[in-house]
Amino acid sequence: MRYEGDVYRPPSEARSLIIQVTIGCSHNKCTFCHMYTAKQFRIRKKEEIMADLDDCREMYGPYVRRVFFADGDALIVPTPMLLELLDYVHRNFPGAERITSYGTAHDVIRKSEEELKALAAAGLQMVYLGAESGDNEILKHIRKGETAEDIIEAGQKLKRCGIMTSVTLISGLGGRVALERHAVSSAKLINAMNPEYASILTLHLTDDSPMAQEIARGEMELLTPDEIMDETELFLKNIDSPGTVFRTNHASNYVALGGTFNEDIPALLAKVAEAKRQRRYRLEEWRRRL
Ligand code: SF4
Repeated sequence: MRYEGDVYRPPSEARSLIIQVTIGCSHNKCTFCHMYTAKQFRIRKKEEIMADLDDCREMYGPYVRRVFFADGDALIVPTPMLLELLDYVHRNFPGAERITSYGTAHDVIRKSEEELKALAAAGLQMVYLGAESGDNEILKHIRKGETAEDIIEAGQKLKRCGIMTSVTLISGLGGRVALERHAVSSAKLINAMNPEYASILTLHLTDDSPMAQEIARGEMELLTPDEIMDETELFLKNIDSPGTVFRTNHASNYVALGGTFNEDIPALLAKVAEAKRQRRYRLEEWRRRL
């Protein structure tokens, strides 16, 4: 089993077997993201990935229940190869209940509905989409390479094809100037996608990232924990996405929230208000980067 460079996974995949089907991110340009800057993007050879699955079968036996395909946008892998890999996972681990992957909106849009339905039938249960914001100006500013319309289209397409979606947003991404716009447009994006899961991370930059340098030059301001709470409050007040499970359980967050839209929104707002009143925030030194 060979991992290349640092490997990232969503918090909810902590107990999953992580398999690198790609190395790095095919986009690798977002100004806040340091995750794959040291890696040159490539799709790994199918034989190498299968050899990793064989090693894992030897190490863990047939009992692996959850598998997560990394790195940054594993869904870019051509569908025939993904189908072979999904089949190989099931042959090695017949009890596998859940196979998930990172993907970009463009990866989803590029695939036909027939391809996505075939992936769903082969066991791809969920795709993690990093939306970051629902605001097109912010998406352009961070060089996301996608619009809110692309992200909504991808989420709706996955839903039609029977693949669940987990959407990630980043609090503080528009700085102080765009706090309100970021919160409201991100809520609208979630409402339009109605994903199974939505989460918010909080901006936490490495010093050498392009966005950290913008902040150092005074061109953008980081939000204080109170302002992050204001942004979250405004986001929650604009949400109408029945059934979406919502979390802020990443180590970058100041406050951990969890509940289901829409019924838990009053309780979530009460928790935000309480955190603000008591100023009970995760300490800066305990926060982790995105
Ligand atoms: S945020 Fe996602 S799409 Fe952007 S560079 Fe990082 S991994 Fe790639």
